[in-house]
Amino acid sequence: MNLLLYGAPGSGKGTQANMLRGHFGIPHIATGDMLRAEIQAETPLGREAQPILAAGQYVSDEIMIAMIRNRVRQPDCGRGFIIDGFPRTIPQAVALDTLMAELSRHFDRVLYLQVPVDELLRRLSGRLVCPLCQRTYPPGTAACEADGKTLVQREDDKVEAVRPRIEIYLSKTIPVLDHYRGEGLVSEIDGMGTIDDISRQVLAAVTAPTGKRQSA
Ligand code: ADP
Repeated sequence: MNLLLYGAPGSGKGTQANMLRGHFGIPHIATGDMLRAEIQAETPLGREAQPILAAGQYVSDEIMIAMIRNRVRQPDCGRGFIIDGFPRTIPQAVALDTLMAELSRHFDRVLYLQVPVDELLRRLSGRLVCPLCQRTYPPGTAACEADGKTLVQREDDKVEAVRPRIEIYLSKTIPVLDHYRGEGLVSEIDGMGTIDDISRQVLAAVTAPTGKRQSA
């Protein structure tokens, strides 16, 4: 099962990706998490990416394409993967087509979690995250339920970066969905509602037949 997950910052992608990972037993590849790990480890890439993420801008296509190429070739991706955060631009989408063809794979479904902008702003302002497992929590929560770590605010969840992140996502990344629409792969999911309701819709969309050939 190979899935692509789309949704603006704050749309609930991380939560649904976690559910899908548990359900299908395939890795969740989140480019934002990979970049934050590089920043935390203070690698040369992390040092380069840090100010870009803090400003809510996009890291270069060249870097992101190399990162995904390397990741999907790892052995744990043998039975499939959920990619979240890539491709965010048309050049990234074209590079991913090439990579999938090289691997003789195709995407089974492209999921788009839709949430209105005012709700995204509400969810992101004050959102807290576990620095260890990246789970997100509402404002006021003290520690992570899973590992007890003290929660922090993501640098790019600060108010000055939130609006540019949403704007850049809607202007640059949502048009990338058209790349997959022609193939009948895109399922739009209403991201307003309870987590369980949304999970049910996501699973129904993933298991519904597409106009395309079935998974290899
Ligand atoms: P969001 O919740 O904003 O979707 P992510 O955790 O997916 O956050 O990504 C955080 C940041 O990492 C983005 O704002 C961007 O700076 C960078 N990033 C992640 N994926 C990509 C990509 N495919 N291309 C360019 N930049 C990326």
